[in-house]
Amino acid sequence: MIPGPVEFDPEVMRALGMKTASHVAPEFIAIFGRALKKLREVCLAPSAQPFVVAGSGTLAMELAVANLVEPGERALVVNTGYFSDRMALLLERYGAEVVQEKCAPGEVPDVAAVERVLASGRFKVMTVTHVDTSTGVLAPVEALVKAAGRHGVLSVVDGVCATAGETFHQEAWGADVYLTASQKAIGVPPGLALLTVSQKGMSAWRSRKTPVRSLYADFAEWLPIMEAYEAGRAAYFATPPVNLVYALDVSLGQILREGMEARFARHQRMARAFRAGWKALGLKLLPVNESVAANTLSALYYPEGVDAAMIGRAREQGVVLAGGLHPQLKTRYFRVGHMNVVGPGDVLATVGAVERALAAAGHKAHPGVGVAAAQAELLTAR
Ligand code: PMP
Repeated sequence: MIPGPVEFDPEVMRALGMKTASHVAPEFIAIFGRALKKLREVCLAPSAQPFVVAGSGTLAMELAVANLVEPGERALVVNTGYFSDRMALLLERYGAEVVQEKCAPGEVPDVAAVERVLASGRFKVMTVTHVDTSTGVLAPVEALVKAAGRHGVLSVVDGVCATAGETFHQEAWGADVYLTASQKAIGVPPGLALLTVSQKGMSAWRSRKTPVRSLYADFAEWLPIMEAYEAGRAAYFATPPVNLVYALDVSLGQILREGMEARFARHQRMARAFRAGWKALGLKLLPVNESVAANTLSALYYPEGVDAAMIGRAREQGVVLAGGLHPQLKTRYFRVGHMNVVGPGDVLATVGAVERALAAAGHKAHPGVGVAAAQAELLTAR
């Protein structure tokens, strides 16, 4: 139950064990082309350009930055934690002049304040982390992306801990890049960097004055490949991760069969049940209030007298949890992922294991109180 890699569906895992076809074989071309089309649907971005590249989420971030930003251009980072810091680092590495709108861990920057900074001028891009995995904070991406749009600024949304789990309507909201990775709510083992880029984003890349500094991250290399596979032709720049693409095709198919709105709603329902369980156990969320708490993971302070040893105790109880990640608070909290195939059974088993681990650490609660509260929430059909 960590926030990625998550649990994967057996059908997805079987796809990884299939015979590896040649990357130019007709059967692989059909599967790759289909997966690209499905990625557009999952991101609700019918006219965006999809990219599927071997690498992790950090490569997806790098693809966005390397292609959309030129040295000396200004970038605004809406910073909610560890992965926003990484985005700022990348932007600086590619020569951008970076301005950051920061907040205390657990908070989100005020949209009106961000808009004032956007209005102050000359930004090429604004980046925002949809869910910051280090704090469990859900950013108000719709409002932020629309604000960027009003000021003619390209928006880049890091959806690594959100895509296919948190509500996101890329095209309707006008987001220019939605970037993600395979190992979380997308439901495929680690190894794929995924992006959908708006036509506005693609034309910004086309009108660059300087070449992209990274060869492996250059859209100029990847665009002809993505276009060819989608059109049913093979093309080569760098060998695609054939079996991960098989798995992606299977998982995206499952996601679309569930339906995007139903999937978002399921993640919300499970998150509400988890939060009810945490509250009953006397655990405090790191996000300052529920309206900024992610539906894909919970970040929770250890109660008085409990420390990171509790994670080992939870493992003994059969559930794997993650420690803290935000540099300022690392030792004071833990994280529970709830993405992809997460269902009521996971909620009850995890809340129960956390309750037993806390009890072993001396934090007593009335037996079953967390599970009862989670169950009560699961029973309310909302
Ligand atoms: N952004 C966010 C929000 C993340 O959660 C992560 C990974 N946890 C990354 C970027 C980086 O992805 P990766 O570890 O796959 O490189």
